[in-house]
Amino acid sequence: MEKDTLDPWGTSSVKDYARLQSEFGIEPIAPLIPRFKNPSPHISRGIDFGQRDLAKVLDAVDNHKPFAVMSGIKPDGVFHLGNKMTADDMVYFQSLSKEATVYYAVADVEAYADNGLSYEESSKMAVRNVADILALGLDPDRAVVYKQSEEMRVMRMSTIFSRGVTNNMLKAIYGERQIGLYMSALIQAGDILMPQLAEFGGPKPVLVPVGADQDPHIRLSRDLAARYRPDFGFIPPSAVYHRLELSLTGGQKMSKRIPESGFTLDDSPTEASRRVRVAFTGGRDTVEEQRRLGGRPDICPIFDLYRFHFARDDEHVDRVHQECEKGIRLCGECKDEVIGLVKGFLTEHHKKRESMMGDAKELLVKSRKYLSSAGNQ
Ligand code: SF4
Repeated sequence: MEKDTLDPWGTSSVKDYARLQSEFGIEPIAPLIPRFKNPSPHISRGIDFGQRDLAKVLDAVDNHKPFAVMSGIKPDGVFHLGNKMTADDMVYFQSLSKEATVYYAVADVEAYADNGLSYEESSKMAVRNVADILALGLDPDRAVVYKQSEEMRVMRMSTIFSRGVTNNMLKAIYGERQIGLYMSALIQAGDILMPQLAEFGGPKPVLVPVGADQDPHIRLSRDLAARYRPDFGFIPPSAVYHRLELSLTGGQKMSKRIPESGFTLDDSPTEASRRVRVAFTGGRDTVEEQRRLGGRPDICPIFDLYRFHFARDDEHVDRVHQECEKGIRLCGECKDEVIGLVKGFLTEHHKKRESMMGDAKELLVKSRKYLSSAGNQ
């Protein structure tokens, strides 16, 4: 059987999530679900499938202890559905406790290494990206946003970490890559471990919500946390993993590099609808076959749109799945329904985001002041 591959900078393919767990040591999330009073749609719909050390974060929630939620974005374009997935997780885990602080890195160093994007271009995109997350529900009062290139602690940590890793270790995790990407991986480890520095309250659980393809970064950060524990007291960071959403063109994963594979939160409702209209489905060749054999929701990106983002509730997801499998639902009407939901969401999101642009700038300024008062120089 073809091996699943996890490449945070390229094409990842995951066909068998159970196998991924045994191969890379990701633990299932299911045993921990009873600990959530109100599981998020990602948890209740099986989208968040795996975790590492999530119990440490849930212990902090139960005991009203501080913890951090850490994430970031490579500002090489507008928010797409994959970014929304991570943002939804950040917002949810932040909402679990007043003691949760979100740290959000604008990965401009990585955007330069991977996409050749200048820091100035990254800067412009950052405000818009932050406004997207605020529109999705992030509480700005418990959030710190920074640019990697300006956060000297992160850069210093990456230099320290570079003495503790060899080329072979990085090659084993990421394969043969250009040095710039190895460097950006070390910087990202700095991002993930920064909330545990003394000036931010010292060692604490840090949760990183990621797509399955980002696991190499989590493994590297956990290795480094263990290696540098004697110096910094680091606790290995926790992670929660979500499934990769099927591409509208029929591939295994949506990708920013292939616009038709999904849509962005910047697309007009009309453009997003067009992409959904021409998307691949798990339907049969004829109406007669679909009625007789049923559709295949588990290979259908339209079903993923319902399940991952736009279904009204879990019962709606189950209904679409059952009606599809039983041949009650045909693909044309199924697309019509989800298009209505997509249009409604985008129209609302665009309004909210425009109203949040000022708040986004304010959050960046407030964060910079906070970070400099904590000794960023
Ligand atoms: S009916 Fe809907 S979920 Fe089923 S295959 Fe067609 S588009 Fe996909």
